[in-house]
Amino acid sequence: SREWHLLSRPVGWPQPEDFALVEAEIRQPGTGEVLVRNKYLSVDPYMRGRMSAAKSYVAPFELGKVMQGGAVGEVVASNAEGIAPGDHVLHFGGWREYATIDAKQAVKVDPDAAPLSTYLGVLGMTGLTAYAGLLRTASFKEGDSVFVSGAAGAVGSQVGQIARLKGASRVIGSAGSDEKVKLLVEEYGFDAAFNYKNGPVGEQLREAAPDGVDVYFDNVGGDHLEAAIGSLNLGGRIAICGMISVYNNTEPAPGPKNLARLIATRGRIEGLLVNDHYDLQPQFVQEVGGWVRSGELKYRETVVEGIENNLEAFLGVLRGDNTGKMIVKV
Ligand code: NDP
Repeated sequence: SREWHLLSRPVGWPQPEDFALVEAEIRQPGTGEVLVRNKYLSVDPYMRGRMSAAKSYVAPFELGKVMQGGAVGEVVASNAEGIAPGDHVLHFGGWREYATIDAKQAVKVDPDAAPLSTYLGVLGMTGLTAYAGLLRTASFKEGDSVFVSGAAGAVGSQVGQIARLKGASRVIGSAGSDEKVKLLVEEYGFDAAFNYKNGPVGEQLREAAPDGVDVYFDNVGGDHLEAAIGSLNLGGRIAICGMISVYNNTEPAPGPKNLARLIATRGRIEGLLVNDHYDLQPQFVQEVGGWVRSGELKYRETVVEGIENNLEAFLGVLRGDNTGKMIVKV
């Protein structure tokens, strides 16, 4: 079985020599464990944080050991009650072909209810992030005008569509290519969208949201955050979900220049961590699952084939190669 190890902690952009794909023995499950053959692996921006030694909400990846991440696979051997060979499970033993895991850390998923990969994306962690972040952290209410960055990605594309389905007065998105911008407006029903590479974000946002924004869902940080504060309406709320524009920086990024505007707007800015919101999971799957089935909420996945391309897929997320959730098919 092949698995990916972190060999050294990247400084700046991760380099191929920081990683190795190594051959490892498959361990048969001990008491309470199951052996899973992985079918889909998740690559996520937060993994960049785990590659560094800095203290955070998840422990750093250990050097010389297999990395972890979301994965869906088929149970091929079980030494645990309630899970049998042939069952499919969502678990955290990604970045490897086979995983021997504690059955308590595995959640059964139904391959007939939805495509397996969606349990990593639209109906999984990134979907819940969008749902909880918009409805809870940003206290979205009907009639709000919503701006989301990273809008063609896994989280962002769902934030915009949930806002639309819940009665936003205007949904504005930004993304890094004209093609992605077109998708936002033509397929996902955003009212306006712009390519942040085409000009200053502040100017493009003012044009796209002439009446300002009530909610900004931040996936990017930097000049996007600064622009959003500049366009914030009275009582506006900002949910800080991610700041992908700075993940590979070696120096701290300069802060927004217009933070004082939060005083005049009584604006609220709040961090969001999906881990705190799993109580919403059943409600999220029911509501968003319904929209996915009816076609009211659309999603895309960018699927990269082969465990040997796991690292390239991860780097692709940081570069913006993906539209929607980036998935590795083993
Ligand atoms: P995405 O599917 O959105 O992929 C990341 C996207 O970020 C890329 O496709 C790229 O698209 C964009 N991007 C990369 N660099 C930049 C840059 N410098 N400026 C602007 N955009 C950039 O990933 P996810 O949906 O999984 O995650 C989105 C954000 O949410 C991330 O910041 C992530 O860390 C965060 N997150 C936070 C969670 C939490 O609990 N707080 C949980 C899950 C995710 P483009 O072509 O548009 O540049």
